[in-house]
Amino acid sequence: MSGTNRRELANSKRILVKIGSSSLSLAEGLNYRIIERLCDDISLLKDAGKEFAIVSSGAVASGRAITKGCTSGEALSRKQALAAIGQGSLIKAYNDAFKRYGHIAAQILLTRDDIDDRHRYLNIRNTFTALFELGAVPIINENDTVRVEEIQFSDNDMLSAMILPLLEAQLLIILTDTGGVCREDPRVCPDTERIPIITDLKLKDIRGASTQAGTSGRGGMYSKLMAAYHAGLLGVPTVIADARTPHVISAVLDGEDLGTLIIPPRKERLSRKDHWIGFVSIPKGRVIIDDGAVTMLTQRGKSLLPAGVTGVEGRFVEGDTVEIVDARGMVIAAGLSNFTSEDVARVMGANTKDLAGILEKECDEEIVHRNNMILKGAHL
Ligand code: GLU
Repeated sequence: MSGTNRRELANSKRILVKIGSSSLSLAEGLNYRIIERLCDDISLLKDAGKEFAIVSSGAVASGRAITKGCTSGEALSRKQALAAIGQGSLIKAYNDAFKRYGHIAAQILLTRDDIDDRHRYLNIRNTFTALFELGAVPIINENDTVRVEEIQFSDNDMLSAMILPLLEAQLLIILTDTGGVCREDPRVCPDTERIPIITDLKLKDIRGASTQAGTSGRGGMYSKLMAAYHAGLLGVPTVIADARTPHVISAVLDGEDLGTLIIPPRKERLSRKDHWIGFVSIPKGRVIIDDGAVTMLTQRGKSLLPAGVTGVEGRFVEGDTVEIVDARGMVIAAGLSNFTSEDVARVMGANTKDLAGILEKECDEEIVHRNNMILKGAHL
């Protein structure tokens, strides 16, 4: 859907709702009232034919309340333990709330490396499809208990943006503890003005947003806008709204003027595969190219040939994602390598006709084929 105005939001059939820890937790534990109200709203919309998935934080905050733990400065292992304690209560709260309407919740815990692997990524997509066929509401959270820093999602806002194509959702609603995007940080300037609609969201505009999250979550408005930006690359509109607004999801779908609607750009949208190559998969190495190759890639739409390669960094195998960088280290593109890092080192600078001789085996002509490449300059 194009999401050019609020009225069009009603056409979204499948919706991803993200709700953060600050909205879900109270000092004494989970905010059951918010969860129940959200599930009431979603259940009635489901009965009317809509489909939903929810990215829900709150495991750590719930675990903290259960153990009466301290609020900050915890070691990673302690937070992971709190997530293990709290996740059960979190999913139980959703299950109980949906059961009143005869609906089913399904727990999905993901780490970044689950979707970094293309095979597993596609497998998870099939699982989501099956869950929607069963009429279940997937309740997704990062698998905090087993994650390590290198492979963590920066926060659940980004997790939401990354899984949009897996869910094939047409709308992202981010519920938070402010009334939307404001001109100033509302925690600092309570009288600040809400921005109702953002068109043409640019990365440079996002950089000024607050990175300050609520007391119990990660993220802040910066990460919500980043998530909206990424959703926009896929052509998906985002609404950032206050989780405390009564019937907030119905109100968004009814086109009510609440929160902030971020409209996706009209220009070409990324395919699911390009989105995965460029923004989901973690690059396993870098291929450095000369200025001639930069021109071939950026202005002539060509594949990357060994002749334009001047260096290689990291260790990767065929099919891994690599970053393609210029002589100054600026990322030009990301793509799937047809060669191992060792073979790139052997053929770099060589003419296409000499490749098989150098490697003593049949091989592709391109280091990265155009069809498996996404230019980064235009997007990041
Ligand atoms: N996954 C964490 C939790 O459930 C929250 C992460 C976030 O707020 O972005 O507590």
